[in-house]
Amino acid sequence: MVHARAVRKSFGQLEVLKGIDLTVERGEVVVILGPSGSGKSTFLRCVNHLETIEGGAIHVDGELIGFRDSGGRVHHLGDRDITRQRREIGMVFQQFNLFPHFTVVQNIMEAPVGVRRESRAKARARALALLERVGLADKTNSYPRQLSGGQQQRVAIARALAMEPKLMLFDEPTSALDPELVGEVLATMKGLANDGLTMIVVTHEVGFAREVADRVVFMDGGVIVESGPPAEVLDNPQNPRTRAFLSKVL
Ligand code: ATP
Ligand code: MG
Repeated sequence: MVHARAVRKSFGQLEVLKGIDLTVERGEVVVILGPSGSGKSTFLRCVNHLETIEGGAIHVDGELIGFRDSGGRVHHLGDRDITRQRREIGMVFQQFNLFPHFTVVQNIMEAPVGVRRESRAKARARALALLERVGLADKTNSYPRQLSGGQQQRVAIARALAMEPKLMLFDEPTSALDPELVGEVLATMKGLANDGLTMIVVTHEVGFAREVADRVVFMDGGVIVESGPPAEVLDNPQNPRTRAFLSKVL
């Protein structure tokens, strides 16, 4: 589903991604761990066209996202292709960014109706089904400010799913939450994983990685230092940098 090869990205003089190779198969859940500043968010943003890459190539579902050839020439997609591809990739951030003046169901219907020109009836029916799936059927007509952080994040997940993405990217979805609200969001994400959704999840929740990930990737300093099944990377890390990081978060 995702093929990243030798992906490079710099901000000015700072090289943030120094050749990332990562393949994610359809239905696979990959958790990315790593210290602050290691390039985790930047990598996710490159997959979703929020940043352009400066070396290597990224494909999603066989389609090129970004590419720079050996002569240094960037191959740009047209805006229409970028917009279409971005619709097919859901992203959930640390901050939920719901529309405050829309109800929960309106938040979820917004993109299908506004962007995909779906009928309100059809969009509403799917929104209600998604609210059921994230356990918030009773909050349909609430406003975001009436919800807890964990509930708001579950609405944000439902909103991303409303576009029927083939890939979901999560960037520290529980980092802004009070500790007692983390579990409900992780449980929702586990449900999606069990349903077969392809997911890349940046998180410090090692328990989630151990339980849900097919593969754990440890990034440090813009490279993938170590990658493998959770039991290998988390319980028997080979690289000293992985060991040092895990000793701090476990
Ligand atoms: P964290 O765990 O703190 O979220 P991260 O692994 O997600 O860290 P990134 O956000 O990808 O790290 O940032 C990697 C490096 O790139 C950091 O040094 C950051 O300051 C820098 N960086 C990220 N975005 C930009 C930007 N738009 N302009 C300049 N530098 C940036
Ligand atoms: Mg980040």
